[in-house]
Amino acid sequence: MTDDLKSCVEFHGHICPGLIYGYRVAKEAMKLMNLNRSVDEEVVAICENDSCAVDALQVMLGTVAGKGNLIIKNFGKNAYTVLSRFKRQGLQIFPQDALRLHG
Ligand SMILES: [Zn+2]
Repeated sequence: MTDDLKSCVEFHGHICPGLIYGYRVAKEAMKLMNLNRSVDEEVVAICENDSCAVDALQVMLGTVAGKGNLIIKNFGKNAYTVLSRFKRQGLQIFPQDALRLHG
């Protein structure tokens, strides 16, 4: 297990498919958008559910409720949008792993 995945498990409390999915979403967004973990509020995550996956996005992307850069729109959909305020780019990730890069 990689150190960053270990950090997700420690934060979340257990390892589960949802956490792994969120970890993969975050890693893919970081790769495709060339992002680092958000120190301040430069990266924003919009999550369309409140599942285990959201915790992995918080750890990996630094998108957390306290900084206001984690937005949960609980539509019960397995969909995530990652935005970069600096790059003015957005990436939407849907259940079929279809990726749409905007910006
Ligand atoms: Zn879980």
